Amino acid sequence: MTIYQNLIAGEWTGAEAVENINPSDTKEVVGLYASGSAADTRNAIAAAKAAFPAWSRSGIWERHVILKKAGDEIMARKDELGALLAREEGKTLPEAIGETIRASQIFEFFAGEALRLAGEVVPSVRPNIGVEITREPLGVIGIITPWNFPIAIPAWKIAPALCYGNTIVFKPAELVPGCSWAIVDILNRAGLPKGVLNLVMGKGSIVGQTMLDSPDLAGITFTGSVGTGKRVAVSSIEHHRKIQLEMGGKNPMVVLDDADLSVAVEAAANSAFFSTGQRCTASSRLIVTEGIHDRFVAAMTEKLKTLNVDHALKTGTHIGPVVDERQLKTDTDYIEIGKKEGAKLAFGGELISRDTPGFYLQPTLFTEATNQMRISREEIFGPVASVIRVKDYEEALAVANDTPFGLSSGIATTSLKHATHFKRNAEAGMVMVNLPTAGVDFHVPFGGRKGSSYGSREQGKYAAEFFTTVKTAYTLA
Ligand code: ADP
Repeated sequence: MTIYQNLIAGEWTGAEAVENINPSDTKEVVGLYASGSAADTRNAIAAAKAAFPAWSRSGIWERHVILKKAGDEIMARKDELGALLAREEGKTLPEAIGETIRASQIFEFFAGEALRLAGEVVPSVRPNIGVEITREPLGVIGIITPWNFPIAIPAWKIAPALCYGNTIVFKPAELVPGCSWAIVDILNRAGLPKGVLNLVMGKGSIVGQTMLDSPDLAGITFTGSVGTGKRVAVSSIEHHRKIQLEMGGKNPMVVLDDADLSVAVEAAANSAFFSTGQRCTASSRLIVTEGIHDRFVAAMTEKLKTLNVDHALKTGTHIGPVVDERQLKTDTDYIEIGKKEGAKLAFGGELISRDTPGFYLQPTLFTEATNQMRISREEIFGPVASVIRVKDYEEALAVANDTPFGLSSGIATTSLKHATHFKRNAEAGMVMVNLPTAGVDFHVPFGGRKGSSYGSREQGKYAAEFFTTVKTAYTLA
């Protein structure tokens, strides 16, 4: 089997490799992917550092053309790349193709942004002096990504980094190197100069840790667990490095008595169970007021009966497998914890077998949960959600905000008053009214508050905040 190698200083390299396994069918090896060493990582950082002066001064047309070519190729290959994504990560083929299209759109967006780079010219408060405010590239950026969005997250970090003139050392998650390799191959062929984008696949404890320990990374943009995010933060203080962290969520979805029941159920089922609940914006706390509680639970249970859990590539599958054995154990451990804490298992909770050996778990719904239970406080990252019964809107809002996280927050209501109040008072970076907590646009800011995020927003124009540094220049006329 060919080894998909790392790209360091413009050369494909690496003989050590690991198998990329399909969670829908653990007998299938998706490919062999290089596993980089600390020395590889240091070489990649040195290459990115050497490539920075020229790339930081590259013309905006050159950046535009490369980003546009990448976006176009990803779109042209959406079915093939979507299938690769579904095979390595386990989300359903339509979800995977949707994510691939989004990655293409992100490259198109930043191809456009490259042509719109601008500064400000303002008068000085002193006579005969002019002031210019410009944005300059930050330097070498470390990009560390998780397994749950194998193509979209790399895209939304790589595209702005290149657009604003930075060079990159990119380390994708061990479980899903395939889509990352494909993006890097596409960008490399699109004409990026050697060393501008370096790919080092491999272990977090080796490749990732070597990046954290390097004094040569001007910034690290990271998406992953709270624990690793904290390590990125602590190491970055020591190296005086800019950081952007996206970590966990425990997102609430409030359902009020006046909600349209079908809208509420569609939004809640999507939030909690689509992409196998493995989205940082997934909702695992369904906070439901008394008057609609029983009808909501009955309708949710009926809805869950209609969702097929099966092979990600099979037509008609609504929910793919859990990503791997370790995550499956976390999910089933939390199901046991929920039962012991006194929540009532209203649906699911069982492992299921299908035609192929994979990590199949039923969508699982608890009722009679409280917000103090561990299943309501800790991120599970699987197809497991709990219904928390509350008296009224005021209690619902208080419970929604009573969490260490603050990424996304949803409400189902037909009341303009409650929707407006919730938008203003939800302690989250993103608020959804009558929509799932997950599922966001690519051209507007993404990010959260409290324990979910640290640093400036990702995506859209707001990405410039992280990927550039501001200069104020004064000239005597
Ligand atoms: P998860 O538990 O969901 O896999 P992680 O935070 O462990 O979340 O993984 C997110 C990314 O961080 C992955 O690319 C992983 O390899 C990387 N990572 C893990 N440990 C470290 C570390 N010590 N230093 C840097 N990166 C790491």
